[in-house]
Amino acid sequence: MKTPFDHAMFQLDRALSIKPISPLAEQRLKNSEREVLAHVPLVMDTGEVKMIDVYRVQYNSARGPYKGGIRFHPNADIFEVRALAFWMALKCAVVGIAMGGGKGGATIDPKTLSKSELERLSRGWMKIMADVVGPQKDVPAPDVNTTPEIMAWMENEYSKITGDTSGAVITGKPIEQGGSEGRGIATALGGRMVFRVLRERLGLPEVCRVVVQGFGNAGEEAAILWGEDGHKILAVSDSKGGIYSEKGLNISEVKKYKEATGSVVNYPKATNVSNEELLLLDCDVLIPAALENQITEQNAGEVKACVIFELANGPTTPEADDILFGSGIAVVPDILANAGGVTVSTFEWEQNLASSHWSEEEVFERLLKIMSESAEHVYMSATEHRTDLRRGAFILALSRLEQAIEKKS
Ligand code: NAD
Repeated sequence: MKTPFDHAMFQLDRALSIKPISPLAEQRLKNSEREVLAHVPLVMDTGEVKMIDVYRVQYNSARGPYKGGIRFHPNADIFEVRALAFWMALKCAVVGIAMGGGKGGATIDPKTLSKSELERLSRGWMKIMADVVGPQKDVPAPDVNTTPEIMAWMENEYSKITGDTSGAVITGKPIEQGGSEGRGIATALGGRMVFRVLRERLGLPEVCRVVVQGFGNAGEEAAILWGEDGHKILAVSDSKGGIYSEKGLNISEVKKYKEATGSVVNYPKATNVSNEELLLLDCDVLIPAALENQITEQNAGEVKACVIFELANGPTTPEADDILFGSGIAVVPDILANAGGVTVSTFEWEQNLASSHWSEEEVFERLLKIMSESAEHVYMSATEHRTDLRRGAFILALSRLEQAIEKKS
């Protein structure tokens, strides 16, 4: 079975076949710079000790310190974390921020842990990684199943070990502990800015019928924001399943329902659908906002959306990309669509280093400029090279990375 990293390398080769880069840059980007695989002893509330696999992949630092989230998930492994770290390097280059690509993880289902166990694991992760991360080296952030509270525990652990209290070692912290205004909605908000730039060019109507897979940080906020723009949210889902209403869902009600019951499933004003069915619903825009490998060669031929907008990382496999391209379905790639998260994360890092705090207005203004310009640049790159938006985004990022790699050699 192919891993997410195999898919990432396939995507890289396809972009290189259109526009090659220097042999040094190519090899640099086909290999990570450093990978840490370690084991954290987690003392459970019962006194039992479990060993948990933890990861940090530092993929490329040619453009700046490594940057990328930490994922706690039972399926997290080194191949997934490596792929995510590679995509981070490209993503930072697409939006032109001076950071490199990194990613971290732990193979664990955090929902099986008590709060104190989760805190011990988070602190344990940082204890092991404190040597390799740091404000000028590698700056982690949240990802799937990791929260501002976890970031705060990790930051606190790092400051106890190193004495560095700037907070700049990690982003996505609660605002009162050095977090940035707007970080919580940055990924979805950045996505909405990209969508506004591209909607008409992608041939989409003013009012789109939208389906969102994943109702977490990225997906829930996207459903709210796309709804605010007047689009109709037909369906949403979480790991337990999805719900569909032809008339459109009231997302703030669905949110309250999920808070009360733990899932969107069985929401009374909609019909339950499975996650597999949800991906194949008739709609204008499908927003995958959960995990990788959701749209594959098995189901791509049955997708009825006109556009796939990748808020998740790696939701579409390269084989699926080809099938979608053949059916005229445009894919707005993850390394552009969800780059608002890392952009505001970088703002947080800058604020921490300068001991300053920007207003929400300032954060959103800067984000709007970066995301709108990046969407234009990716569109132009794809048009210039007569290719799809993913390859357009890769070509843009690769030329920026090549420059930085050659300059450092
Ligand atoms: P999250 O943990 O907050 O939410 C994930 C959501 O997906 C949850 O609702 C979960 O129930 C659901 N889910 C899990 N497995 C599913 C499945 N098989 N089918 C349907 N739903 C499923 O995570 P998040 O931070 O929202 O991240 C989601 C995706 O967006 C990931 O790919 C992540 O890498 C990407 N992303 C997130 C950010 C960010 O700022 N949060 C930034 C960039 C990219």
